[in-house]
Amino acid sequence: MWLGIVSLFPDMFQALDHGITGRALKDKLLTLAHWNPRQFTLDKHQTVDSSPYGGGPGMVMMAEPLHKAIHAAKQAAPTPPLTIYLSPQGKPFNQAAAAELVAQHRAFILVSGRYEGIDERVIQQDIDEEWSIGDYILSGGELAAMVMIDVMTRLIPGAIGDAESVSTDSHTSGLLKYPQYTRPDCFNTQNVPPILLSGHHAHIAQWRLKQSLGRTWLKRPDILAQKKLSESDMTLLTEFINALPQK
Ligand code: SAM
Repeated sequence: MWLGIVSLFPDMFQALDHGITGRALKDKLLTLAHWNPRQFTLDKHQTVDSSPYGGGPGMVMMAEPLHKAIHAAKQAAPTPPLTIYLSPQGKPFNQAAAAELVAQHRAFILVSGRYEGIDERVIQQDIDEEWSIGDYILSGGELAAMVMIDVMTRLIPGAIGDAESVSTDSHTSGLLKYPQYTRPDCFNTQNVPPILLSGHHAHIAQWRLKQSLGRTWLKRPDILAQKKLSESDMTLLTEFINALPQK
């Protein structure tokens, strides 16, 4: 996956040098290239922002340097890229959106805004899609871009050692992941559920599915409402609910 980053703060992306994204960069599963609009300014002060027409608070990123930076990134892309503006007004980014983006595109340009945002004409002329990472306001698009990159990198074949870990992640199957335990068997008098020590794989898989259904019902009923449950799923969920301590 090739990513052209358009940002006033390229150093922030060094956070991706760690963990799974760091390994993907080393293994060349992921390539990042940077374009800073400041290098495409017309004046000696390298001005990238100006006050909004019509008045109002703050500054707006100017069209010209941003447009030129995006254009340079497009020219360097190895395949025609999807150009994304990170924006609180964009489509809500989630696991399903990430899977679709990774399946459909090999190259992306991620444009990070700052200040009050970017000149609308850049959105109209240069941006294919706007994506939001949530209904709140960040100071800049860099963190949002890194969230998208991290989520999408996990979906690149080979980026994660054990592919099963991705397929059983919360939100991948439409359910939250089952509870997990590791050594020791007993911690502060609390034991690991005995079934996990039984070695019986089919029983463990069924227990895990029941826990996934149950905790999605408890924690995220909105997600469960969107999932089509089979008859056996319904039986497991009913068993889970009936076994809950009475209040
Ligand atoms: N004034 C803008 C508005 O109300 O829509 C918000 C500007 S915000 C302070 C600066 C930049 O942060 C935006 O241009 C965008 O790139 C990024 N940003 C802020 N919140 C975001 C979010 N929830 N998702 C993605 N990007 C976001």
